[in-house]
Amino acid sequence: MAERRTFLKQASLLLGSTAIFPQTVFGCNRSSKKLGICLVGLGNYSENLLAPALQLTQHCELRGIVTGSPEKIPIWQKRYGIPDKNVYDYETMGGIANNSDIDVIYIVLPTGLHAKYAIKAAETGKHVWCEKPMAKTVKECRAIIDACKKNKVKLAIGYRMQHEPNTQKVISWAKTRPYGQIQKIQAEVGFNIRNPADTWRMKKDMGGGLLYDVGVYAINAMRYTTGLEPTSVLARYENTRPEVYKEVPETTIFDFQFPKGIQAHGRTTGRENRNILRAECEHGWYQLSPFQAYSGVQGKASDGLLLNTYIENQQARQMDDDALAILDDAPVMVPGENGMQDIVLIEAIIASAETGRTIQIS
Ligand code: NDP
Repeated sequence: MAERRTFLKQASLLLGSTAIFPQTVFGCNRSSKKLGICLVGLGNYSENLLAPALQLTQHCELRGIVTGSPEKIPIWQKRYGIPDKNVYDYETMGGIANNSDIDVIYIVLPTGLHAKYAIKAAETGKHVWCEKPMAKTVKECRAIIDACKKNKVKLAIGYRMQHEPNTQKVISWAKTRPYGQIQKIQAEVGFNIRNPADTWRMKKDMGGGLLYDVGVYAINAMRYTTGLEPTSVLARYENTRPEVYKEVPETTIFDFQFPKGIQAHGRTTGRENRNILRAECEHGWYQLSPFQAYSGVQGKASDGLLLNTYIENQQARQMDDDALAILDDAPVMVPGENGMQDIVLIEAIIASAETGRTIQIS
């Protein structure tokens, strides 16, 4: 796929424009077809990351918006040339069912709202992309998966790291084990957030908290690095600022037991900057640090190998990969089941932290 992407890019440069790219090059129309994407929720991630990234994609085009903030509409229409007929609010978004401009509805809302609107999106018959974490509960994740199955649409979860080449190298090592059997994993992600804003991210019922927001990257990374699912977890919370972190924990520490005796130490915190994924193996080690960042993901290994492949834009890569899965009718890279498993583990972490007991994971 990488070669094909490079070839397409070079060929379109030669021809000056993808719009005149000959449709017969691959014997089908796919290379010229762009999917119409509709962003739901025009907050920070949509405005500053996804919409700009969509301008860099080969297979996607920003064609619609769903927003509850009327003042954002003219700004987005002007910036991206979105016609009135492709503008919706949360009540009217069901009308997308009859809008042939839109192929994919991308849910970029607070986590506690993902399930309600991902299900609404699936019911329009359009494909669904849903930001991470997939939802607040396993029950909600299952409902999203069921709605997408029932409506025969694809569902992809926005875990951009799994589309990132250095991360993909680490993922491939779960099978090839170049440093022997993994014995220990460390996955920590945190930020020194001095004065957290009083937004949905601080509200429990909205799926706020660092564990859901970025801890989920550490959990996902433990799983893709080992290629295995954990069997138990012992977790605890630390809160040095209870007057600030009133509803959600400031720090969560989660130690998973994986099959084959692999121990995995996880931590997510609002107290300090942490960003490391490290695997200790029989015959060496490797790590990515940062392992979770919009750019600059890089790493090294005990034999001096450097993991430093550069890509221009992770979100563009992710959306093109997910668009190709639709155009080719192929499996998406991060399906709902993958996103749901992280929420299974988050529920186990919460149960352990609240009871002080080791929780078995079935
Ligand atoms: P923001 O708070 O910046 O934006 C959320 C938007 O959702 C709002 O601007 C608003 O858009 C809409 N919204 C609808 N109802 C509510 C409500 N009750 N409270 C607050 N907002 C509401 O969040 P982010 O953009 O940072 O995050 C959105 C999602 O994207 C989350 O699931 C987050 O985890 C994910 N994310 C993923 C990242 C990644 O790297 N994959 C990075 C950052 C976020 P409007 O005014 O248009 O209605």
